[in-house]
Amino acid sequence: MQLQLATWPEVETYLSQSQGLIIPIGSTEQHGPTGLIGTDAICAEAIAQGVGEATQALVAPTINVGMALHHTAFPGSISLRPSTLMLVVRDYVTSLTKAGFTQFFFINGHGGNMATLKAAFSETYAVLADLNLPQAERVQCRLANWFMCGSVYRLAKELYGDQEGSHATPSEVALTQYLYPTAIKQAELSIEVASGHPIYGAADFRWRYPDGRMGSNPALATPEHGRQFYELAVKELSGQYLEFLAKAAS
Ligand SMILES: [Zn+2]
Repeated sequence: MQLQLATWPEVETYLSQSQGLIIPIGSTEQHGPTGLIGTDAICAEAIAQGVGEATQALVAPTINVGMALHHTAFPGSISLRPSTLMLVVRDYVTSLTKAGFTQFFFINGHGGNMATLKAAFSETYAVLADLNLPQAERVQCRLANWFMCGSVYRLAKELYGDQEGSHATPSEVALTQYLYPTAIKQAELSIEVASGHPIYGAADFRWRYPDGRMGSNPALATPEHGRQFYELAVKELSGQYLEFLAKAAS
């Protein structure tokens, strides 16, 4: 069930049975010459909704814009600073904790969010403790990166080998092709692609990675691959979500 399509009495009824909530978080950033700018948010949202259906969990509105400062030299990218994203996460969790939610399962689509999310969770626990809410002590936030699922990683390795790369990957592009077949893009991709450089600021990133890809060959992506990635990620993360709830209850 999507929170946005529920009424407050429905949420109240849900809370009498479960205090778990899934929060999709992505990014709005360039994904090379053929990848959609919304890739990370689109993938996280679709997988979160799949997990929500499989586990009867409520799914919160997607945090569509993340920490993508290093992509902002490419047009269309939008980024929050890490400090802003931490406040967004803190306020999401605080509002929902006041309602009675305690288990927050973040399904993430963007590697660049990971460090900030972990910092945001620590910040949130401290703020909740200061607020003295009755259930604050029980609040747990879990980070689940769909692209790091073992089953997803193995399939990407099998299909693409070293051409999976680390940004604008064929696996994430395949998933968006499956979800939005009318938005599949074509462009000439050079065989040579930069990889392995450390990440600094936005101008430096564009200089090192001129077409936006990091070691990847998204031309290998197909919508059928995308279906397989979707199903694997939903299955694995559904298991992780249920385990997260069970551990909290034990
Ligand atoms: Zn991405």
